[in-house]
Amino acid sequence: MPENICVIGCGFSGAISARILAEAGYQVHIFEKRNHIGGNAYDKIDENGIVIHPYGPHIFHTNNKRVFKFLSKFTTWRFYEHEVLAYVDGKEVPIPINRVTLSEIYGKDFTEKGAKLYFSENAVKITNIRNSEDNVLASVGEDLCDKIFRGYTRKQWGMDLADLDASVAARIPTRTNDDCRYFVDDFQFIPANGYTALFEKILDHRNISINLNTDYFDHRDSNNYMHTIYSGPIDKYFDYQFGKLEYRSLNFKHTYIPNLNYYQKVGTINYPNEYDYTRITEFKHITGQKCTGTSIVKEFPKSHGDPYYPVPRPRNNKVYTEYYDLAKLEQDVTFIGRLAQYKYYNMDQVIASSISKTNILIEQLKKS
Ligand SMILES: Cc1cc2nc3c(=O)[nH]c(=O)nc-3n(C[C@H](O)[C@H](O)[C@H](O)COP(=O)(O)OP(=O)(O)OC[C@H]3O[C@@H](n4cnc5c(N)ncnc54)[C@H](O)[C@@H]3O)c2cc1C
Repeated sequence: MPENICVIGCGFSGAISARILAEAGYQVHIFEKRNHIGGNAYDKIDENGIVIHPYGPHIFHTNNKRVFKFLSKFTTWRFYEHEVLAYVDGKEVPIPINRVTLSEIYGKDFTEKGAKLYFSENAVKITNIRNSEDNVLASVGEDLCDKIFRGYTRKQWGMDLADLDASVAARIPTRTNDDCRYFVDDFQFIPANGYTALFEKILDHRNISINLNTDYFDHRDSNNYMHTIYSGPIDKYFDYQFGKLEYRSLNFKHTYIPNLNYYQKVGTINYPNEYDYTRITEFKHITGQKCTGTSIVKEFPKSHGDPYYPVPRPRNNKVYTEYYDLAKLEQDVTFIGRLAQYKYYNMDQVIASSISKTNILIEQLKKS
């Protein structure tokens, strides 16, 4: 099959790559082991008529104009700025921490100047940031670390803050103003007709065929495609020869509540400490759907199950580097996406990486 390329996985990385290759004239065959397209960004209408995200809430946000322009060929958008509260000491306070958070937790009004003073007085002086604990202590100090980060991290990652790479906590900014948006990116939107409809449009090309319910590893021996794009777990691709990479998984408990317009004030409420779950998300805030009755999801982290989050810590980084070195030797395979690149990527980062890796591949194929 000289001009045929196979793509493993039909999440953002696989679907975007397939589209670019199809437009460049290649016949693309996608193999997806689940019974649907969209990967973890898949959405659907549940049995009560509410649009839900079965794999947890997905909010698109980016500063990357190129990514936004690329997707805009396949969808119109609904403007949506996500807000998150955390349940702390019986109150729901804004996340990321800002001066409103400080005012509510400490029961007195913080100005911007007061918030700056709070952080400078309470931040622990650490010159060499080694891990997420150092990172949090150096930005908000002991008390807020305990109230907001320590318990949440233990639940979410199954380990202490001190055992996690500094990069994980660095994702969470701290503000002294009263901006209660979770993200501050230039583009914050939800596909107007949902993610699955967006994927249907991306995949709607005569050069693309899709095989759902098909695990690549059941057909690997008969692979005679000129090139393979692989977006599954990289350790599995190499038969775990350097050991398993750790992934964090989640149980999603979806609940429908009839006769209620809204269950909570904002899209997501985090539960840092006393509860088994990490957060509750209510989809109607995100999708803008107007109806009576609402659907929420609670997330219960666990160590086994579907691989959702690569776990960024030194042991895994070392093992990943060994797989990465092997991957570089596979001339006929391109490794893309969150699982094959073992990176804590958001959707826009996965899309940007997929666009650039696929364009590089097309240039290489032209030369060969
Ligand atoms: C709970 C949760 C919430 C998130 N929220 C956000 C958010 O709000 N905003 C944001 O930007 N990002 C969010 N993300 C990240 C986002 O999901 C990812 O960046 C994106 O979906 C990754 O796309 P991907 O194609 O790399 O991987 P995936 O979406 O995981 O797709 C990979 C696909 O490959 C398939 N596959 C794997 N192995 C095989 C095989 N052997 N054979 C065939 N198929 C295979 C899988 O079934 C899967 O469908 C969230 C992630 C999670 C888990």
